[in-house]
Amino acid sequence: MPYVICAPCISTKDCSCVDVCPVDAIHPTKEEAAFSEEKQLYIDPDMCIDCGACEPECPVEAIFEEEYVPDKWSNYIEINAKWFQPK
Ligand code: SF4
Ligand code: SF4
Repeated sequence: MPYVICAPCISTKDCSCVDVCPVDAIHPTKEEAAFSEEKQLYIDPDMCIDCGACEPECPVEAIFEEEYVPDKWSNYIEINAKWFQPK
């Protein structure tokens, strides 16, 4: 089960999670052009190896393993995945 970034990341975007991800599954990073216009960061479900390293790093508890995403944020599972699909 991949991890998912939910609503608390919006406007926080401090990138603590990006620094610990061993497979660079979290985007956009500060080096990417899309960073400034995106409200939040997203986890690529196909890249994520479910290591859990990012979850405790988030200062606003925005990251959950997919099966533990709170019901009120269940739409973020699709929101994360969609960001990585061809536009
Ligand atoms: S769970 Fe691990 S692999 Fe997945 S996004 Fe977080 S740090 Fe990266
Ligand atoms: S650590 Fe949390 S708030 Fe910061 S970018 Fe990652 S998910 Fe967003």
